[in-house]
Amino acid sequence: MKSILYGPVPSWRLGRSLGVDIVSTRGKTCSFDCVYCQLGRTVHPLAERKEFVAMAQLAQELKAVRGIAADYVTFSGVAEPTLASNLGQAIELVKSLLGLPVAVLTNSSLMPQGSVRYELSQADLVVAKLDAPNEKLFHQINRPKIDCTLGEIVRAIKLFREEYQGKLALQMMFIKANQGCASEMTRLAEGLSPDEVQINTPLRPCAVSPLTPEDIAAIRQEFSGLKDVVTVYEASRPEVTPLNLGETLQRRPKL
Ligand code: SF4
Repeated sequence: MKSILYGPVPSWRLGRSLGVDIVSTRGKTCSFDCVYCQLGRTVHPLAERKEFVAMAQLAQELKAVRGIAADYVTFSGVAEPTLASNLGQAIELVKSLLGLPVAVLTNSSLMPQGSVRYELSQADLVVAKLDAPNEKLFHQINRPKIDCTLGEIVRAIKLFREEYQGKLALQMMFIKANQGCASEMTRLAEGLSPDEVQINTPLRPCAVSPLTPEDIAAIRQEFSGLKDVVTVYEASRPEVTPLNLGETLQRRPKL
């Protein structure tokens, strides 16, 4: 059986991050098939939530790493974590056994569901993906496998922001296709009042080329009215002592 935990891994957004792959399938399980995904094509497209791993196995693995030094325990991995119907239970378990802050990286596609927003609200940090300012680019970049519109996702993030007491970050991936949309993306972000905006470009090997540091700096300029904006080129990586480096590298977590 695959292990659920991986790392800790260095993350430009999260510092030293202990990963939880609450879906743990062999091959990517996702409700999107983003053109820039470092994990390749979506092997298991999925739109419905279900239980993938048992809480007993997660508890066993968490007990084995009690006392580990990490800035966050991060739900990510080779899947979209909100597809796990026991995500809320898993967050609660991590908090009770490790006492560390919990982050969830989500592609935002299931946030229109109230139960998903409720479970996400138990995390200390939610990083919500938003890559496109319109439906056409949303389909071109994220290639959704779930029946939802960008408009529904944006409304759901807004609702979540109004309810959520934790830290909400928006993660925006910029590639050639949306490079000219920085001002529209800025307006979208302003309407959602995030605590942070993370401007990214795919630096790990994938099907599309990253934008240059100069391109990203120009995009960053558009966001200057927002209070906390970080770009992948500005961020530094902390030193990390891997817990299970082989597993970490094999999974190539999307941190
Ligand atoms: S980048 Fe994230 S949301 Fe997009 S296909 Fe890959 S795992 Fe899914």
